[in-house]
Amino acid sequence: MELKADQSLWEHDRIYFASDRDSGLRAIIALHYIRPGRTGGGIRFFPYASVADALHDVLRLSRAMTYKFAMAGLPIGGGKAVIIGDPKTDKTDSLLEAFGRAVDELNGLYTCAEDVGTTPADMAVINRQTEFVAGLPGGTGDTSPATGLGVFHALRAAVERRLPGRNFNQLRIAVQGVGNVGRYLCKHLHEKGAKLFVADIDEQAVQAAAKDFDAQPVPLDEILSFDADVLAPCALGAVLNDETVPRVRAAIVCGGANNQLAEPRHGQQLADRGILYVPDYVANAGGVLSGAQVLLGLGDAELAARLQGIYATCNKVFDYAQSAGIPTSDAADRMAEDVISR
Ligand code: NAD
Repeated sequence: MELKADQSLWEHDRIYFASDRDSGLRAIIALHYIRPGRTGGGIRFFPYASVADALHDVLRLSRAMTYKFAMAGLPIGGGKAVIIGDPKTDKTDSLLEAFGRAVDELNGLYTCAEDVGTTPADMAVINRQTEFVAGLPGGTGDTSPATGLGVFHALRAAVERRLPGRNFNQLRIAVQGVGNVGRYLCKHLHEKGAKLFVADIDEQAVQAAAKDFDAQPVPLDEILSFDADVLAPCALGAVLNDETVPRVRAAIVCGGANNQLAEPRHGQQLADRGILYVPDYVANAGGVLSGAQVLLGLGDAELAARLQGIYATCNKVFDYAQSAGIPTSDAADRMAEDVISR
């Protein structure tokens, strides 16, 4: 557990623990930056090995949400929740309802949405106890199509910058994780003619990608170092670390997963190796744009324009990084901090 090493993680407006005897709920809700009077972010349902691991994850994720909202131009602060448990075996309606009551007690400080391990149907159950829920079925619904499309726009910008003149039908793209986001990203890439290589711990997801997008399965332990032009991490976080960064062979890393860098210094290491890293919270902002659609009254055309805008935001990040001589991850952080301070 690295909370001691990264003291800045404690810089949060509020951190709540929620528990419920009857349903067995054990959750943490972290509100990084309450702006203006509200935060938003997904609920991750995951079998953390310890409460300390869960706390570390939720603090990292909620801070990243603040930066993500800032770069997406949305007037909302970052929040996040984790529920400790295995979503396949521990998720019950009574547990989700208990979580909903915990959210409701915050009186709108935190609006929750789906994330890894939770679904729009779960949001409907939580909604029985609180109105502060985004991503309901029939509402903005599943955010992953917008996230996948936003990552695609980010990837376009990165390819033009790092591999100028290359068409998508000349690209080999390695995708780690073909769940909700990965699948939508693959759809857009396949439509553009890219050759896809995929790995997922879920064999059915791999088979579906092979069938739908002519993707070639790659062993799990080979995907990060696969000989591709682009690596798209679309599973879990911290995949870019001391062990993996030296092995990445792609010229570009651009995917939908949150918190891809294990530590900020891995952004520098990627830059040192000449790899163009698209900061994750810039690339995957489609999720929050879609989630905030109802909250902010955005029409479909405006949402589409804002998703398209991720392309321009990426170019600004690349330009800033180049002119300041810093990694793209630091450039995005500085740009987000500038927005937040204003
Ligand atoms: P998901 O659970 O639908 O998909 C994740 C996929 O990754 C699953 O198919 C899973 O089997 C696979 N996976 C897990 N561990 C793996 C491993 N070690 N190797 C290979 N595959 C592995 O989740 P999702 O909604 O697609 O989200 C994926 C990532 O994108 C997460 O980091 C999430 O936080 C982030 N994200 C999602 C959204 C959204 O709108 N859903 C928005 C922003 C960011």
